[in-house]
Amino acid sequence: MTIKIGLAGNPNCGKTTMFNNLTGAKQYVGNWPGVTVEKKSGKIKGYKDVELVDLPGVYSLSPYTLEEVVTRNFMLDERPDVVINIIDASNIERNLYLTTQILELGIPTVIALNMMDIIEKRGDIIDIEKLSKILGCPVVKTSALKGDGTKDVAAKAIEIAKNNKSNNFNMNFSKEVKDALEDIKGLIRSNNINYSGSNEQWMAIKIFERDSDFINKITLNNDVKEKIESIIVKCEEEFDDDAEGIITGERYEFIGTLVSKVIKKNNTSKHTVSDKIDKIVTNRILALPIFALIMWAVYYIAVSSLGTILTDWTNDTLFGEIIGENVATFLENVGTAPWLQSLINDGIIAGVGAVLGFVPQIMLLFFLLSLLEDCGYMARIAFIMDRILRKFGLSGKSFIPVLISSGCGVPGIMSTRTIENDKDRRLTIMLTTFIPCSAKLPIIALFAGSIFGGSSWVAPVVYFLGIFMIIICGIILNKTKMFKGEAAPFVMELPQYHIPSMKSVLIHMWDRAKAFIKKAGTIIFVACAVIWFTSSFNWTLQMVDAQDSILASIGKVIAPIFAPLGFGNWQSAVSTVTGLVAKENLVGTFGVLFGIAEAAEDTPTLLTQIGTMFTAASGLAFIAFNILNAPCFAAIGAIRREMGSWKWMWITVGFQTLTAYIVALVINQVGSLLLGNGSVVGAIISILIAILAIALAVGSGRDITSNKEGRKVSA
Ligand code: GDP
Ligand code: MG
Repeated sequence: MTIKIGLAGNPNCGKTTMFNNLTGAKQYVGNWPGVTVEKKSGKIKGYKDVELVDLPGVYSLSPYTLEEVVTRNFMLDERPDVVINIIDASNIERNLYLTTQILELGIPTVIALNMMDIIEKRGDIIDIEKLSKILGCPVVKTSALKGDGTKDVAAKAIEIAKNNKSNNFNMNFSKEVKDALEDIKGLIRSNNINYSGSNEQWMAIKIFERDSDFINKITLNNDVKEKIESIIVKCEEEFDDDAEGIITGERYEFIGTLVSKVIKKNNTSKHTVSDKIDKIVTNRILALPIFALIMWAVYYIAVSSLGTILTDWTNDTLFGEIIGENVATFLENVGTAPWLQSLINDGIIAGVGAVLGFVPQIMLLFFLLSLLEDCGYMARIAFIMDRILRKFGLSGKSFIPVLISSGCGVPGIMSTRTIENDKDRRLTIMLTTFIPCSAKLPIIALFAGSIFGGSSWVAPVVYFLGIFMIIICGIILNKTKMFKGEAAPFVMELPQYHIPSMKSVLIHMWDRAKAFIKKAGTIIFVACAVIWFTSSFNWTLQMVDAQDSILASIGKVIAPIFAPLGFGNWQSAVSTVTGLVAKENLVGTFGVLFGIAEAAEDTPTLLTQIGTMFTAASGLAFIAFNILNAPCFAAIGAIRREMGSWKWMWITVGFQTLTAYIVALVINQVGSLLLGNGSVVGAIISILIAILAIALAVGSGRDITSNKEGRKVSA
């Protein structure tokens, strides 16, 4: 018989760290809430048939957020044999709120009192025995980060699962509530109400709270419903509060007393090192400049200095000389057909190689970003951004998906599930992919190298352009008819700073690199072959120069659309479209298209060719368009799933493409003017278009009279 163990706790309490530790899995450990939005399961090392399920982090078992629903339904419907409830001991009050609810379920439970290393460092003392006695279940001290105590928790959990030792917890409700619950229990018994083995006390509390999710799962006839309602109303009148509020209040009262009994705080050191760092890092004035400086340093190291050296070596030496030349010679020596030689050299090696060349830069970037995340700095960024966004009526919670999207948009979009408010959630999904993800990095690096002489400011500027657009578009969309409304408050607990765990940082770095390499070997590989074919043949299937190829003829039809943005040539048009398959593909396409020319002697390299095709203005416009434009198909699919509708997916894609177009237009027109090769009229028109778009969007949220005016302007 398998034993099923559920791992439950607040966001960020260390569930995934514990899960990885016990199962040997390599799930992503994030240092902010909302990383695990789906449950994941694995087998515990050293035991046969013991399944551990990592559940999404929740603050309570009410059925409001999607994570709460996932965790709660798991508890109710799948009934694990035992629950390991992880508590972040450094935030014990808040964590115990969930604990009281888990214990009420009646499922055998072990408490893992995690982050004990922090408690010990603080010099606080927690009386484990007393805590265990009051909660009526075993409590084990752990530090998941260091791997201390995790085995003991697993052993204890398995032991009580085998003995089916139910915990013995009874929260001390006040007399009025207790009486009301007893009355409801009487009705539960007399009407034989039952839900998949749920505990009577728990059902009574849920009924008392008018928990509609639970009440819909059971059948109550009208007579019973009325009786229940009168019991609840009587209690509500006594407390002058609604039923749910009464229970919440009682829980906190119980927890307050409990904590005062079991914790002895060390008051000698009031300010921890963490607090001291936070004073500077989250300072109202200094926070943003520090963030800008840090991100600049990260991109400088990863993309410009060290990263370029590694990438140049990979491109020129590895793929150029070592692989490219040897393969070419080999193919010639064995007498391969010329078209196949061209496919392999100019299609696959040039295209896939151009993409793979960026692996070192990506690994370096994610190594540094993971360091920042794991030590706790990125959580501060979410906190700082919350402070800024709230001024504009936006939810600070939106920023966590943005930070996750800087790795990949798909998990970023999925992590919006932590946002309860539907409007905020949609808004975040529409904006989050503006941040450059790892696949967009090669585009930035390629252009930084070819047009801007490898300048170190390009990558950070593009990163901040993404953030800037998220904030600006957030403010604008929040004023439109679709999104008008108040943002839900966002409470974020800042984790203590800690020395990053190398293992977790390396896992994260390798995950990104692996995904990137895998895509290069699959989607990009196929795409490069297709691009090679369509750029080597004409419609009658004769081998021709790229200029006369199928691809060129298609590209030339689309290209004029991009002419006002400064890249009206067919190669850029084609690569912008192929970038939708996967953003790296854009670089792969350039690799194939210019790799062909490179085959001839004395032709310029990929970098110099791109350099001559673009000006600084049009190059920046090209980057901006491709960063802000609709994301890749995988992310568009995630948008559709998370929005739950095709309509919203199209709205999102349309909004993103239009925004990208306008931004690129302004950059190119105004930039050209500043560089001395543009026109005043072009610059003015582009700015007017931007203003008109903003006015129309904002106007839609005003009352109907001003809306009419808005229409007149556009007519
Ligand atoms: P989850 O959201 O509950 O899955 O939490 P994670 O496992 O993702 O961990 C959140 C953060 O807390 C990560 O940065 C971990 O490295 C850190 N962490 C986890 N356990 C401990 C611990 O025992 N001590 C300390 N100091 N940090 C921990
Ligand atoms: Mg997790």
